[in-house]
Amino acid sequence: MRRALFLGIAWLPCVNSYAFEVSGNFWEAKQATYHVGMSGTSPGGTSWNTSFKRAMSSWTAATNFEFLAVDSFRDPCSGRAKNGFGDNISAVDFTADVCGNAFGSSTLAVTLTAGTCLNQECTGSIKIKDADIVFKNSEKWDVYTGPRRSGVLDFERVALHELGHALGLRHENSNPAIMQPLVTDTHTLQADDINGANVIYPGSANIPLGVTIGSIYGVNIVVPAASKISGPSNTVNQSGALISGDTSLDGKFLDMYQFTFANDSIVDLRLNSTAFDPFLYLVRISSTQDGIPAHTFTDDNSGVGANAQILKSIPAGTYWVGVSSATGNQQGSYDLSLISANNNPTSSFQAFQSVYGVNVQINPNPSIAGALSSSDFALNGKRLDLFQFTVLKQTKLRVDLSAALFDPALIIARLLPGASATMQEVDQKLLLQNDNFGSGLNSRIEQSLSPGNYWIGVTSANVGQTGDYQIETTVVLP
Ligand SMILES: [Zn+2]
Repeated sequence: MRRALFLGIAWLPCVNSYAFEVSGNFWEAKQATYHVGMSGTSPGGTSWNTSFKRAMSSWTAATNFEFLAVDSFRDPCSGRAKNGFGDNISAVDFTADVCGNAFGSSTLAVTLTAGTCLNQECTGSIKIKDADIVFKNSEKWDVYTGPRRSGVLDFERVALHELGHALGLRHENSNPAIMQPLVTDTHTLQADDINGANVIYPGSANIPLGVTIGSIYGVNIVVPAASKISGPSNTVNQSGALISGDTSLDGKFLDMYQFTFANDSIVDLRLNSTAFDPFLYLVRISSTQDGIPAHTFTDDNSGVGANAQILKSIPAGTYWVGVSSATGNQQGSYDLSLISANNNPTSSFQAFQSVYGVNVQINPNPSIAGALSSSDFALNGKRLDLFQFTVLKQTKLRVDLSAALFDPALIIARLLPGASATMQEVDQKLLLQNDNFGSGLNSRIEQSLSPGNYWIGVTSANVGQTGDYQIETTVVLP
């Protein structure tokens, strides 16, 4: 096997536009050790080593990748003269040039990656063995949080960015991210950065990872790793930035986050920013991503100063939290905090007994946690749960049903128009069933649905089975 190429990844503008960009390069052991022994302290008093190690710890804490530090100096350019491939020891320092090559005029730092090619031609991924980081020593550096300051760069957010390259990420142009190609007001890791790292380094299947999903409104929705709120009390802190690449609504940039509350809750949602006058949305959504007007709240100035705050008792369900500004074209970083406490040990979903004798829960959430139990209605010995939801406009919906303890079977039925709690008749023209989808035992139905009332039915493939199940509905975007 040949030793591989020199990949200089500079902090420069480029033109990709996907959510997080992975280079294809990776550390086999999911970890990298850095020699951290720079001399000196920032003007603000934080040593460069403390700041760099804090950036390493941020990635380690938020992802499945681990950065380890050795407290001794090592020249990052060791083994890199004449474009050499390094010395298999990762190091960091301020330098006058990129190990013999000039820094680009707008380049602040460079991560030099080398490793072993995975194919003979060395055209694909490399297993990384060395990722040295050099910071341009002619720039004016300090360590600070919050918006960019004129004439002085925050070392730590550039370190976070370069460490993202070191673990295998490329630039991200569309979503708020520390991996944006240019320095922004974002000074912490964002959901997109974390998702990207966790795609390269998947964790155990039980670790819920954040994802970005599309919406029927054309807005990207960030589902944070801690998006499932089950109480009795929860706190979620999320920082981000409104940037010019965001979706805009009436000329105001908009970031959206999705949270699901398992129980009726009291939520205290606060949006603070020193960069702009924040405006906050809290909107309950249905399984088809339609906002539910009775549970839609907005606020401009209920927080301290011009900050926004929404304090409400809300029913269990899935909500979108929107971050925007009070006036148009505002940008900058913000902090969002969500504190919730259970208001009810269960959820207040409405239920009724159908004409078929089955209890039907009105539960339009995209995500439903349920259980087949021995007290459920049984049809030919198989337990049956029904959930009713309404489709407001033509929507292609994917419904996934999974269960660990039994072989689940999924039913989608359309009710004939005029259905009410006391009158339901299933439309025989749309009665869909799926037992096993793909190679597993779980079930999936994907179907374009016209406006109307529908039932999702959950049962088992075999008689007498019970246990927990999960339903996830996803709107399939055209
Ligand atoms: Zn970069």
